[in-house]
Amino acid sequence: MDVVTRVAPSPTGDPHVGTAYVSLFNWAWARRNGGRFILRIEDTDRARSKPEHETAILDALAWLGIAPDESPAVDGPVGPYRQSERREIYREHTDRLIASGHAYRCFCTPERLAELRAFQKAAKRPTGYDGTCRDVDPEESARRAETETHVVRLKVDKSGTTRFTDLLRGDIVIENENVDDQVLLKSDGMPTYHMANVVDDHLMGVTIIMRAEEWIPSVPKHVMLYEALGWEPPVFAHVPLLRNKDKSKISKRKNPTSILWYKDEGYLPEALVNFLALQGWSIKEDDEEFDVETFIERFDPKDISVGGPVFDLQKLDWLNGEKIRKLDTATLADRIVDGGFAGGWERDAIVRVLPLFQERMKRLPDFAEAARYLRERVEPDMDGLAKKVKKADPEALRGALTKAAAVLESMAGQPDEAREDALRALAEEFGLKVGNLFMGLRVAVTGATASPPLLPSVDELGAEESAARVRDLVERLVPAS
Ligand code: GLU
Repeated sequence: MDVVTRVAPSPTGDPHVGTAYVSLFNWAWARRNGGRFILRIEDTDRARSKPEHETAILDALAWLGIAPDESPAVDGPVGPYRQSERREIYREHTDRLIASGHAYRCFCTPERLAELRAFQKAAKRPTGYDGTCRDVDPEESARRAETETHVVRLKVDKSGTTRFTDLLRGDIVIENENVDDQVLLKSDGMPTYHMANVVDDHLMGVTIIMRAEEWIPSVPKHVMLYEALGWEPPVFAHVPLLRNKDKSKISKRKNPTSILWYKDEGYLPEALVNFLALQGWSIKEDDEEFDVETFIERFDPKDISVGGPVFDLQKLDWLNGEKIRKLDTATLADRIVDGGFAGGWERDAIVRVLPLFQERMKRLPDFAEAARYLRERVEPDMDGLAKKVKKADPEALRGALTKAAAVLESMAGQPDEAREDALRALAEEFGLKVGNLFMGLRVAVTGATASPPLLPSVDELGAEESAARVRDLVERLVPAS
């Protein structure tokens, strides 16, 4: 049987990392099996659903390289792929359920339901519909439906139990008396999540439902619906929720949840994909960095571990640095420019100097920040320098740096080794540790105690400008009298 997977986001806000995470697993499993991955838009909440959010979801997944085979943007055999365009289908199926006695119209007003709820709460009883309209005579119900506002509810058989198997969690059994007569069709004619979800998953031929564990409590309702409609449910696999460090469900307050944030911060899509794949899945402990092809080759939903993974941005930073180092210079330069992180640099210039910075980068904006000293004189870190050279004789350091400035000019263009030898000899002449002289030069030229290699920086800046910066530093080293 063909593998058909799906993700069903609601377009009600910024594209969420949880959507990317669930999409990734579903997409990879379809890829691995030569199946189809469907993106269905659950836009039945008319007040909160917005077309721009739908576009953002599609764009965000495209940025991550996760391409649905069918979606509102890519037509296929089981569309439409927006629930708001499938109203007739849901109505038809709800009518079928009413006709077969599995569902009924409920005419209770919102006010009555609110009162009922308040009463149940006050009495510390479980809240839920009390069944008032369950036994309205079918003919009377049809007649009233013509003029009265109503919803349609599932007529849950309150005896016995409902059982289903979750691929990752085994058998789950619940008592039917705890299942509410859920609404299937709202008074505006829109289906509820439960109704639309079951009808669509069936009609779209979905073979496995992989989604977040927060939906487990809905499954018994869905299983009852499959049964009432005479359908076989697909396989269920509820994946762990993404979690903040304190194990609570990932939230905006504690973690950035919008995929757009990651793009704007200069994370690479392949790093975010790798990171998301690690939330519940792994190859082996020491092999955390892998490419998406490897993931597709090896991923199997039954290997997902349900222990709550922790969304650890430090790990993402590390992975991002690893991915950055895997790129060749030209590609990395393109990513910097295309992502809007060039900070005024021309692409060719980026390609030329990038090797100085690639090794230390964690995110794409790091380049422009780290390379600032090549464009302008940055304030040298005098405190940092003082700490590094505190054992050196200040007089000797100034003398050596002054001469070093002249060496940089007179030996401009000579091989690194020759220049290094000359600078070493200078240190010796002044009785200085070589490291101290180089630290002075480094802070003078780049502004920082930890920086890209010194001589390539000098070459990029030009010997004259470099020497001028060294002389400026010597001035700053003069003790205040
Ligand atoms: N619209 C639901 C969501 O946003 C879909 C849940 C499901 O996959 O069944 O997560």
